[in-house]
Amino acid sequence: MSTILSPGDVKLRDGRSVDFANLDIAATAPCLRVVADAVAELLPFYGSVHRGAGALSERCTREYEQARETVADFLGARDGDTVVFTRNTTDALNLLARVVPEGAAVLTFDAEHHANLLPWKKTVHLDAPRSPQEAVAALEDALRRERCGLVSVTAASNVTGEVWPVTALADVAHRFGARLAVDAAQLAPHAPVDLTALGADYVAFSGHKVYAPFGAGVLAGRADWLDAAEPYLAGGGASAHVDDDAGVRWATGPARHEAGTPNLLGAVAIAAACRELAGADHPAERALVARLRAGLAELPHVEELRLFGPEAQRVGIVSFAVLGEDPGELATRLGRDHGIGVRTGLFCAHPLTRRLLAEATARLDPSAQAPAQAVRASFGLGTTQAHIDRLLAALR
Ligand code: PLP
Repeated sequence: MSTILSPGDVKLRDGRSVDFANLDIAATAPCLRVVADAVAELLPFYGSVHRGAGALSERCTREYEQARETVADFLGARDGDTVVFTRNTTDALNLLARVVPEGAAVLTFDAEHHANLLPWKKTVHLDAPRSPQEAVAALEDALRRERCGLVSVTAASNVTGEVWPVTALADVAHRFGARLAVDAAQLAPHAPVDLTALGADYVAFSGHKVYAPFGAGVLAGRADWLDAAEPYLAGGGASAHVDDDAGVRWATGPARHEAGTPNLLGAVAIAAACRELAGADHPAERALVARLRAGLAELPHVEELRLFGPEAQRVGIVSFAVLGEDPGELATRLGRDHGIGVRTGLFCAHPLTRRLLAEATARLDPSAQAPAQAVRASFGLGTTQAHIDRLLAALR
């Protein structure tokens, strides 16, 4: 596995220097060296995509379309699926919301990141389930009662790191004539996200979370809704033909939703990351998750946030409530005194995080007031056991 570009040592308040423990990778991951190299290699040839003749344009157009193919392979896209480059997962899910056929309801659980909660026009919300099995049963029950065109679920929670039963949910959705979209923002950096294997119809993810921070994301999946909908942005590239009186024939395929000059470097960066991550297993990360959770369990003032049972499968994300500390001040002290970067807040999943904070606090001390924010440690490539141990020692 290629290395990560790291900032090296940072200076602490007491004058010591330590290597920075970046435990906020779920928000934005550092850059893979192969990604930076792929971008640097292309830069001397940087030119227009789909819009010119000459060596630069030919190369850039080729690289852009090759990037699309690499991403399609990475995602196990089926023949006929479309891969659209977007800005990020939020943009990808907003695009999907625009192409859902008029009047079709979209079902989500109240456990979603706001990017998968807010874009939909007509929605059916289900309570956050307490286990993967409950999620499947609740979906089946809801779809028996209510007709939906799309079910959109996270593949791995950005709050708890818990992995959702996407394949089983897709089976249920399909039995009731609905499609299934996967928000893979937090799964894609850690495990394969394969449309065919998962049986999902759409998948969205962000480049900056898969170690490719050059401003691109992806929506991939069934072409028919994408080709039938109005273009996401009206403009050049999306238009196949425009008359003198501004009558327009729109393009089909990815071009329909990629109006304007595309983000070539973003696409090339994502493709480089996909090549690197394809098929990668991350046993070291699983060991770090277990180590961190075991260490947190020993701290009397700390309780992890979880929706499913303690044995549920997780990616490298662990959020927790810390009693008796202001979360913001705690994060500042972790940074300045220990060289650790974490995230505090409600993680753009307000309903879920508030509920889990209250539950975690009650498990620790039923008479205590829940903190207003949680602390999240998230990790992946570049994280070491020493980083985890430093966090545990600091919290202790
Ligand atoms: N979905 C999940 C599960 C996320 O964790 C995030 C970001 O943290 C998003 C969607 C939105 O991603 P982006 O900010 O890259 O659009």
